[in-house]
Amino acid sequence: MTDILVEADRASRTYKRGATAVEAVVAASCRVEAGSRIAVMGPSGSGKTTLLRLMARLDAPTAGSLTWPGLRAGEPLRPAQIGVVFQTASLIPALTSVENVELPILLAEERAGVCRDPPRHRALAALAACGVEPMADKLPEQLSGGQAQRVALARAMAAQPRMILADEPTGQLDRAGALWLIDRLLDWADRAHAALVVATHDAAVAERMRSVWHMDHGRLEAHE
Ligand code: ADP
Ligand code: MG
Repeated sequence: MTDILVEADRASRTYKRGATAVEAVVAASCRVEAGSRIAVMGPSGSGKTTLLRLMARLDAPTAGSLTWPGLRAGEPLRPAQIGVVFQTASLIPALTSVENVELPILLAEERAGVCRDPPRHRALAALAACGVEPMADKLPEQLSGGQAQRVALARAMAAQPRMILADEPTGQLDRAGALWLIDRLLDWADRAHAALVVATHDAAVAERMRSVWHMDHGRLEAHE
């Protein structure tokens, strides 16, 4: 099995807005391999979120292509194979924190037909890894912005995906909190042999990664 988890070949995504077209991502070529630690930096509007959505197969390119050679073909990519941390609030409002985190575990296991540790235990462990186990029984509306981001990160880790795509996962945290959470994410990725792609504005967060990609007006500079 190849080590390349996702590869983009001159992938573009253009949005039509009335008569005009917004070129959110322009001919991006890049690859994420097992064990990659990548920061994606760039000003607001430069295309970071669009690129992550393409890599998660939440969206399709309008030109060029993306392939996922190292992931199981013919199976949905999420949540068993790719964990996503969205930039905006994404917890399900009617479910508690631990139920939000349990959901992808249940979906992944239903597909794989395996039953290891009970899903609730694994969800609680993921919450503990992100420092929010005490919030397990709280609803999203009872959480601060930073706590909600930690729960969302726990949810992305919970089903042990091979790659996490995190879109500004520390945007609601102060510097110390951001670095603490990124270090938890790195610890988890080392243990799970997973790849990380983290869009961030924070140079200190980006410094924790091995590679830094830059985006500007939809153009990606991807260094190994
Ligand atoms: P970033 O995450 O770096 O802030 P985005 O990927 O969100 O950048 O946006 C890149 C560009 O695409 C921006 O000009 C944005 O306004 C535009 N864009 C993003 N999503 C949409 C959409 N659903 N419809 C129209 N334009 C969009
Ligand atoms: Mg964004």
